[in-house]
Amino acid sequence: MFCKIANGELKSEILYSDEEVVAFKDINPQAPVHVLVIPRKHISKHSEITQEDQAVIGKMHLVAKKLAEDLGISDGYRLVINCGERAGQTVWHLHMHLLGGREFGWPPG
Ligand SMILES: [Zn+2]
Repeated sequence: MFCKIANGELKSEILYSDEEVVAFKDINPQAPVHVLVIPRKHISKHSEITQEDQAVIGKMHLVAKKLAEDLGISDGYRLVINCGERAGQTVWHLHMHLLGGREFGWPPG
């Protein structure tokens, strides 16, 4: 599914795109700002990342930081990666949630 978004086969509201990373609005937002940041490379989940993914994982964080600035949530945002069914992962392409625009509790659910 996310591979298709990255390829442009599936329509989505893309906020950022380069050769390694794509970011788009979550279709089921859990906060006023809810963006998904994904690698173009297919990685099914966080526990599958390897040394060769180091650069793209770092890029995902820099893109999230830039989007947080652009979207006006730099003063407080949360980054979430759910790995595996037990953690609530439902789409099997690594994705980082950038959430902001409201208060967040701790511990997370
Ligand atoms: Zn994929």
